Amino acid sequence: MSDYVAKLMASVKARNPAEPEFHQAVHEVAESVQLVYDRFPEYRTAKVLERIIEPERVILFRVPWVDDHGEVQVNKGFRIEMNSAIGPYKGGLRFHPSVNLGILKFLAFEQVFKNALTTLPMGGGKGGSDFDPKGKSDAEVMRFCQSFMTELQRHIGPDTDVPAGDIGVGGREIGFLFGQYKRIRNEFTGVLTGKGLNWGGSLIRPEATGYGAVYFAAEMLKTRGETLEGKECLVSGSGNVAQYTCEKILDLGGKPVTLSDSSGYIYDPAGIDRKKLAFVMDLKNVRRGRINEYTGKFKDATYTAADAKLDHNPLWNHKAHCAFPSATQNEISKKDAENLLKNGVYVVSEGANMPTVPEGVELFVDKGILYGPGKAANAGGVAVSGLEMAQNSMRYSWTRDEVDKRLHVIMTSIHQACVETAERFGVPGNYVIGANIAGFLKVADAMIDQGVV
Ligand code: NAP
Repeated sequence: MSDYVAKLMASVKARNPAEPEFHQAVHEVAESVQLVYDRFPEYRTAKVLERIIEPERVILFRVPWVDDHGEVQVNKGFRIEMNSAIGPYKGGLRFHPSVNLGILKFLAFEQVFKNALTTLPMGGGKGGSDFDPKGKSDAEVMRFCQSFMTELQRHIGPDTDVPAGDIGVGGREIGFLFGQYKRIRNEFTGVLTGKGLNWGGSLIRPEATGYGAVYFAAEMLKTRGETLEGKECLVSGSGNVAQYTCEKILDLGGKPVTLSDSSGYIYDPAGIDRKKLAFVMDLKNVRRGRINEYTGKFKDATYTAADAKLDHNPLWNHKAHCAFPSATQNEISKKDAENLLKNGVYVVSEGANMPTVPEGVELFVDKGILYGPGKAANAGGVAVSGLEMAQNSMRYSWTRDEVDKRLHVIMTSIHQACVETAERFGVPGNYVIGANIAGFLKVADAMIDQGVV
């Protein structure tokens, strides 16, 4: 670690105690930005990274609501408005019991660079709550969302801050949040993305993150003259990102063989085909059940329960060509990364945010595999959110095919920006440094133009 990075990290840790995920995300970017500072000292003088690290605004609020038994419940609400140098704050809301300030700051920080990479004018933000929608009735989820939005509405707006979904926030939650915003503000505007199709949503938004991660993998494979045809793919998660990752893998001739949730994972050596995927979508999006039900229906598949005592996740220990982590942060440990490499995986495209621990990233980069970090590989979701904002402003909707083509163009251009930037900074093939620097430069130039604000 250089002197600069060591000093910066000491200060980040002292000023943001007990936020390990935020430290992890900043450290990775700082290592890349060091290369920029060495070559272009004007960015160092302007303390651009030091400013990006400090959120422009952090909003913390109480979310009281009443459950179905008449009991009062209290959750924490958050919105991190990280950076608005190139556009309104933009980034998802996460509802999960693990949510805390440090996790949301890491996600908001990553979002700044990701949004810059999409080529669209969006700043970075993130928010959410420690509320757990699992096991709650629709009425409870609605009352919670209404209370959450009653406070959040005074801080957001179509030209200020435009939230979307993330873990635990899908179409149902966005609907309840939008309804409450409209009721309080008496405005029908594009204040949220991921909306329903008949009230301002965009075609392909639900599919976009998963599709984008697979398009990114296909672009990486193209650099070696290969395609996804016939490739065996490990996918984690079984939510929004995982489902559409499977769908696009199938479209491109690949074979997804795993899916998971926080209780365990299924392995289906025959492949998760379209019929099986339709079962999973109904199970997760309509019946809101657990992934182990898959093996009750498809007898060739096996289910392995999650075991917190293990130092690895057996999902990542199957022979395969590609891996699409699509569940959550730090789900690939160092041991998992070793297992992936041992089993022949040479393409990792991250649908989730920061799913690989730093030691795992280091292994992937050292071995020279095709490793697409989340801030590049999963940018398709926010890119189509940007397209949803554009359609809302025009009060017009593009067709499915038009949006999908634009998504494809954006993913290809993100891939190209990573490749070209990595080459320019002397580390060809390093998508981590390529993504970090390409995103950083766009935001940094805007910040310098706008003075010390
Ligand atoms: P989702 O629909 O809520 O699905 C999340 C999936 O991951 C579920 O299967 C969930 O299992 C599993 N999961 C969540 N936390 C876990 C944990 N601590 N351990 C093991 N499994 C866990 O969420 P999503 O939208 O697909 O998001 C998945 C990842 O993609 C997240 O990292 C998110 O930040 C990232 N991402 C999402 C988007 C987007 O457009 N939605 C865009 C960019 C990046 P349970 O149901 O058991 O909790």
